[in-house]
Amino acid sequence: MNCKFLISIAFLLIWMANLSGQTFTPESVPNTKIQNNSYISDPSNILDEATYNQINSELTFLEDSIGSEVALVMLPSIGEAVPKDFAYKLFNLWGIGKSGSDNGLLILFVLDQKRVEFETGNGLESILPDAICKRIITNELIPSFKNEAYGEGLLKGINAISSIIQNPENAVEYEKKENKGEGGFFLELYGYLTAFVNGIILLLLGRSFKKDETPYNKYHTLKKYNITPLAFIFPIPFLGILWFVRKEMKKWRNTPPQEPNGVKLSKEQENRSNNYLNSGQSKEAELGVAEYDVWVGEGAEPTILRYVKSPKSYIKCPSCKFQTEKLTNSSTIRAATYSNTGEELQRFTCLHCGNQREQINTIPKKVRSSSGGSGGGRSGGSWGGGRSSGGGAGGSW
Ligand SMILES: [Zn+2]
Repeated sequence: MNCKFLISIAFLLIWMANLSGQTFTPESVPNTKIQNNSYISDPSNILDEATYNQINSELTFLEDSIGSEVALVMLPSIGEAVPKDFAYKLFNLWGIGKSGSDNGLLILFVLDQKRVEFETGNGLESILPDAICKRIITNELIPSFKNEAYGEGLLKGINAISSIIQNPENAVEYEKKENKGEGGFFLELYGYLTAFVNGIILLLLGRSFKKDETPYNKYHTLKKYNITPLAFIFPIPFLGILWFVRKEMKKWRNTPPQEPNGVKLSKEQENRSNNYLNSGQSKEAELGVAEYDVWVGEGAEPTILRYVKSPKSYIKCPSCKFQTEKLTNSSTIRAATYSNTGEELQRFTCLHCGNQREQINTIPKKVRSSSGGSGGGRSGGSWGGGRSSGGGAGGSW
């Protein structure tokens, strides 16, 4: 075997590996502030020239006007090193920020780990607390980074940082803006949710709305979707759906039922329709339990259709079968305790046929309130909130 050839290949491979993803240590990162008074160290040219110049002039302005030192380090790889540790070491190795005021910020970008770290000096931490750093990373950097628009994300993030450093009150403004962002997220979720529910409702409506259904059945299919609470919780778009459902219900209620012999039916006036009702139907109408529509035509039997109005106020009577029975009396036979169930006697009376009946119901056991404290010990749910010695925040994309 040709030994020289193998060695050449090995060197070629190492060289190629270096080219595609050079691994840096804190000591090997070019200190561009010393080399050419630049705030950006980007040895692999991850940033394009225009973005580089824009960010560098912003950072130059920050030191010239406020005295804050912000370093941006763009690295393709730091190997297996932890970005947060790397940032901490590099920050102290370089000594970013003025000594005494410690007003430095290091933004470390690690391409292969898809990680960005903000390392702040003590002096800047009060202006750029960890929470704000985290928000800037999450809101400004990460969305662009996900699209590999690194320059764009960094420009947005550094603009946010710059405005807060120049005027710390802007942090309050930034939080407000952030809250609006959360609102936007909620709106988006709301949009998806309502679209989803709408889709399901339309699907169910379409499925249950068969061609051969009578107008009466179509009315009752629609009635299932006449859900007022949804319109209160989600006024948009359920108010629209409710309006549509009610309009359609009205339409089908006023559509004449089909007669087998082709006789055209017309709806009786409400005051005259009572003449066609039996005593039980009249009682239901009188109690407001149901409304009756009566359709009449020459030579046809009257068609009487029942529309339930408030089903909860009365119970169906076991004797006459009309929904005219009412709970008239309720008394406790034996009270429930923590160890035993109780019993109560209920009396029902039918307002139509006068039938009376009694029913014994079981009362469930009493339950002790469980709010007596958790008994100490574990707090559960979190790790306890330890924090790093170096301030700042990080984010992955
Ligand atoms: Zn009855």
